[in-house]
Amino acid sequence: MNKIHNFQSELLKKFQLTEHIYHLEYKVPQDFIFTPGQFAGARVLPTHTRAYSIVSVKDSVMTLLVDVKPQGKASIYFEKVQVGENTNFLGPYGIFKARDTMLPKVFISTGTGIAPFISIINDLQKSKPHVPVYNFFGIKTMEHEIAIPFFKDSLNSNFRYVDCVSRQDITNLATIDNQEIKAGRVTQVIPSYNFDWVNTEFYICGGPEMVTEMSNVLKSLGADKIFVEKY
Ligand SMILES: Cc1cc2nc3c(=O)[nH]c(=O)nc-3n(C[C@H](O)[C@H](O)[C@H](O)COP(=O)(O)OP(=O)(O)OC[C@H]3O[C@@H](n4cnc5c(N)ncnc54)[C@H](O)[C@@H]3O)c2cc1C
Repeated sequence: MNKIHNFQSELLKKFQLTEHIYHLEYKVPQDFIFTPGQFAGARVLPTHTRAYSIVSVKDSVMTLLVDVKPQGKASIYFEKVQVGENTNFLGPYGIFKARDTMLPKVFISTGTGIAPFISIINDLQKSKPHVPVYNFFGIKTMEHEIAIPFFKDSLNSNFRYVDCVSRQDITNLATIDNQEIKAGRVTQVIPSYNFDWVNTEFYICGGPEMVTEMSNVLKSLGADKIFVEKY
């Protein structure tokens, strides 16, 4: 188990990726170690702590992706917080991680639900480069495609990256190596793939409705190795 820390953390970088999603980089203690898929708790008020999946920790810098659309206390806090200010973080916490098997692994997310999969997939590409990995990312338009830059070093031949675009004509969109662009929501696109549903692991992360709907679709196709993280 990783050591649980409770620390004041300086915001080093903040920039906006979409209308609602921010990229944040925080200074963390040198001995802060997390397992890909885990999250940190941000105490945005003495009475309010919210969970944020850890995108990466490199050279004592932790990257988070925060969606401020819910407009609750944490959203308002992260919208306003400025570089140089401190935030109280706790963690890492959580047991959402890739299973230690050689089975193909399919990751399915929408919005900032991609965050834990960035750390998990980048780690898998190093630790298990022969395991087939699929990442299905549900977005409305390509303006919401925030994740590809995080995978620039890991798009190898065992890794297919599929954008599922629900509200844009995809006819003339260009792709990069190992990327596919499909029309429709993740729940519509994934059934068209010829997975060995029983012998494949499915990991789903995002809003509760998408996670539940996607799990039900997968179960109806025969999948039984389904692991979820509901935001
Ligand atoms: C394990 C875990 C990891 C998480 N990781 C991330 C992450 O990496 N990035 C991230 O942006 N969020 C993440 N979340 C969600 C995050 O913890 C907060 O719930 C979210 O930021 C909203 O906090 P808030 O205080 O602004 O709103 P709250 O006061 O918590 O909620 C306000 C309202 O918005 C609804 N709501 C909450 N989240 C969402 C959402 N995502 N979309 C639409 N409506 C929502 C709530 O049901 C409520 O009605 C994670 C949640 C969990 C449980």
